[in-house]
Amino acid sequence: MNPLQTMWSITRRKSLMNCARQYIIRYSRNQKSFKKQTNFLHHSPSDLMIRSIRNVMVERLEDLRNSVEWSEKMVSLKIKLSLKHEFGIERKNNLKSDKINLFNSLIKKSNSRIDALWDTDIIKKISTGQIKEWSCLDRSEFLPNGHLDIYCSPDITFKLQNKWHLVRIDFQGEKYPKYDDLESLSMVNWAKQKKYLPSLTDQFIVHTVKFIDGQWHHQRFTPNEDLLQQSKQLLEKDVEQMNKLVNRMGPLSDLSLVPLSSSVHYCKKCSCKSLCPAYGELEISKIEQKAIEYHNAKTMYELK
Ligand code: SF4
Repeated sequence: MNPLQTMWSITRRKSLMNCARQYIIRYSRNQKSFKKQTNFLHHSPSDLMIRSIRNVMVERLEDLRNSVEWSEKMVSLKIKLSLKHEFGIERKNNLKSDKINLFNSLIKKSNSRIDALWDTDIIKKISTGQIKEWSCLDRSEFLPNGHLDIYCSPDITFKLQNKWHLVRIDFQGEKYPKYDDLESLSMVNWAKQKKYLPSLTDQFIVHTVKFIDGQWHHQRFTPNEDLLQQSKQLLEKDVEQMNKLVNRMGPLSDLSLVPLSSSVHYCKKCSCKSLCPAYGELEISKIEQKAIEYHNAKTMYELK
């Protein structure tokens, strides 16, 4: 029997919304054993880049917390080292020439993304000391909520003018995500259970800082009880949908019955494309899938 899904995170939700099959490959079938692998086969260069910039961001913020500021050279060095680590590269000289070009362009992109992030309002206020009371959090900390484990920790919290601000930094923001307010407000439900944070909803402000089409975009949300309730319901519905998908595969874990992405746009940047027969043939695969569904429905009808 396929395991019941009990985890919710913004990354899982994104995967579920963009492509049900990707969600199943990445999180469901291997839920227990899925390990993030630093492997070209499973993660696109851009995925590895995002992971390495995120690590650099966290390390830089942690140093800042300890009053250690990085020079431009230090930022570049850290990015290079982090990318090498993610790509599993010992020596850059060992790379073939086309990979060297790719690697160099990723270093450049990462540098400009981090520089631009440090130029955003919140990070600027933190790094220049205008925001004094702040901390950087570990995203892997989950919140048990009934039967669900919810991963929705902010990346940064800070206190300003008697309000607590919860900030999530998204290196792969999407243009028009459905319910992004409710998704972001899940951070308040998380924060209200933390001992060092207040328990009253109106003491929080939520921010998302998302990188979309080459720029960082800042959104701000003010929670209220009604929205928090809706946010909880959204999480429950997501997990319900995740479980329906798993059931749809049946006892044989038949991937061919799991819906495909609505657009090749997601296939291009999909970290599971090497494991998905639909990659490069999305439209044909959709027709094949419809044929399988029709055949299965007909067989069921004839068996009645
Ligand atoms: S390659 Fe496309 S259809 Fe296949 S899992 Fe990835 S996004 Fe979905």
